[in-house]
Amino acid sequence: MMSFKIGFGAEEDREEGKAPETTLAQTVQTPIRKSVVNVHFPDRHQTYTYYNDMFDLNRGDIVYVDGQLEGFRGLVVEVNYNFKIRLSDYKRVIGVADTNVAGRFHMAGSYIVTDDETALKYDQVVTWFKAPKTQEEEYVSSGGDEVFNLNDLSSMKAKSAIVERGYQYYTEDRVVYIELSHGKGRALVTGGETYDVEFFYDQEEIRNLVCSCYCCGICKHEFATMLQLKDILAAVKKEYPLIEHNHYLSAVSKSTFFEFAIDNKTKGIFAIQ
Ligand SMILES: [Zn+2]
Repeated sequence: MMSFKIGFGAEEDREEGKAPETTLAQTVQTPIRKSVVNVHFPDRHQTYTYYNDMFDLNRGDIVYVDGQLEGFRGLVVEVNYNFKIRLSDYKRVIGVADTNVAGRFHMAGSYIVTDDETALKYDQVVTWFKAPKTQEEEYVSSGGDEVFNLNDLSSMKAKSAIVERGYQYYTEDRVVYIELSHGKGRALVTGGETYDVEFFYDQEEIRNLVCSCYCCGICKHEFATMLQLKDILAAVKKEYPLIEHNHYLSAVSKSTFFEFAIDNKTKGIFAIQ
């Protein structure tokens, strides 16, 4: 059994047994500080300059912009506070990834899990992968009436090619995040882009499974999510039987956790038990 606590931004863990820092990261709102920033886009091997009037940006922040590179993830490589620019010459920073994570976590295989509802919420983790929505589009989805049990995935009736691709996604840890919150499940699956998988969950029974890849029927993202969920729940049940996953549980792949919540931090506290 192993768990650890992290508290970035917390001065010191004063009271053992309590976790006063757990909600700190989410409640601190940093003031806006206007800047002109250079943003590097690793996927495009390009760096451009943007105007920022919405956030307090620092080197290393992950941001989203408007203009041609809308939707791409960029990394702030330089911040200038001293400037005079013509606004029409610049596109803007429209979103920033919230990578301030604080809470108590458990290790479960290649995933990190928590039952702390404030520690690793979907609304936060999604900012690590996706730009904020700029326009409202209309969607219609239906998970059908199919109900299946996590312990019998053959009842999903996925096509064999989907099973094969889904299994591959699962072995590659592409299901980067899963949240079970009071019967509602959400997952993020990375491929060409990041897809949202949603479902309802009750005692290992799954219904209304849908994915944002606009496929009909069961897709590889959904199948991979179910394999990963089954794995995580089995690990939690075995190692941490006190975690009541029907209430709240979120899990993130270790590599994702380290890439976003740890690697770009220079201060904070760790406590491994
Ligand atoms: Zn899909």
